[in-house]
Amino acid sequence: MAYHHQLNAVPTIPSVPEAPTGFVADALARPLQELRISLTDRCNFRCVYCMPEEVFGNDHVFLPQTSLLSFEEITRIARIFVAHGAQEIRLTGGEPLLRKHIENLIGMLAQLKTPDGRDIELTLTTNGALLAKKAQSLKDAGLNRVTVSLDSLDDATFKRMNGVGFPVSDVLHGLEAAHAAGLGPIKVNMVVKGGMNDREIVPMARHFKGSPFILRFIEYMDVGVSNNWKMDEVIPSSEVVRRIAAHMPLEAIKSNHKGETAARWRYQDGSGEIGVISSVTQAFCHDCTRARISTVGVLYTCLFATSGHDLRALMRSGKMDQQISAAIAHLWRSRADRYSELRSAKTMDANQAAKKIEMSYIGG
Ligand code: SAM
Repeated sequence: MAYHHQLNAVPTIPSVPEAPTGFVADALARPLQELRISLTDRCNFRCVYCMPEEVFGNDHVFLPQTSLLSFEEITRIARIFVAHGAQEIRLTGGEPLLRKHIENLIGMLAQLKTPDGRDIELTLTTNGALLAKKAQSLKDAGLNRVTVSLDSLDDATFKRMNGVGFPVSDVLHGLEAAHAAGLGPIKVNMVVKGGMNDREIVPMARHFKGSPFILRFIEYMDVGVSNNWKMDEVIPSSEVVRRIAAHMPLEAIKSNHKGETAARWRYQDGSGEIGVISSVTQAFCHDCTRARISTVGVLYTCLFATSGHDLRALMRSGKMDQQISAAIAHLWRSRADRYSELRSAKTMDANQAAKKIEMSYIGG
């Protein structure tokens, strides 16, 4: 699998140094508020819509350890993003819990403070396979919250979707352990792929209704190229809400904050809420305040990017924090990405489509 490193540019260092002010907005007036960091390109699942076995089989060559950002490099970059206004850091991958000694990194990141002295929000997205074992040590290290991916409660469907025959019960144990450790509020993300797990929408809603977990349904997206995405496999969020509401009446509620990816719906009987993330049918690029750092330290300003900016090269060539900080501010100011709002299956240029970066590399 090629990762298109050749398309990544080493950022130019602006000649006039500038100190971060805690706020930087892009070309469409979107502030930089969240940083997602991919800790590894490896995963212990082979989800059919993300890292299918046919593409990521036994002969797949993963990145060598030396090319990954070290914990010191990750913390250095994160500190600069926080100085520019990032208040939340989300660790992802691949499967972030496969990164050795992740607790040490969490301990380092948990020390970061916003320019006005507040703690940052430190979160992690996981498939839950190792959560039962690790929840308490993650919490003790300073992690605030986890989001757990779970696509079905039906064992046969889940095993087929995760590609490695992993049982549902182990993820449910992981969820309980995370709740007991205080890693909440915990969100559970279900990617809905038409014809594969859409029968599970109502059972999943019923299972998590009234529980401490907030279930969110994600539209199947055209990230990367390995999943062979087709628009007719996307179940629109409006349909998800319609199907659940037919059994358990729902009403729309206000978002928690501007830029929230999920639209919120609450059960009319007061037993909790669900979220729907309509990345395809109702794109939310206009509110996107997220920057992404890949496993090898490339900055992507959009999940659907075809090229990025090599921050690792800046660090490993001895640039100073001030220089890297100025380069990041400059890149963010010129950001104008809004891939999802412009998406059209018919008009997407085939060359562009072929170059999209895989989710497991850029981080979900
Ligand atoms: N391994 C971790 C996990 O499973 O949560 C973190 C990385 S994973 C790439 C992050 C999230 O992206 C998961 O919730 C996964 O279901 C979602 N995802 C991956 N490919 C997707 C796609 N094509 N469309 C929508 N969501 C996708």
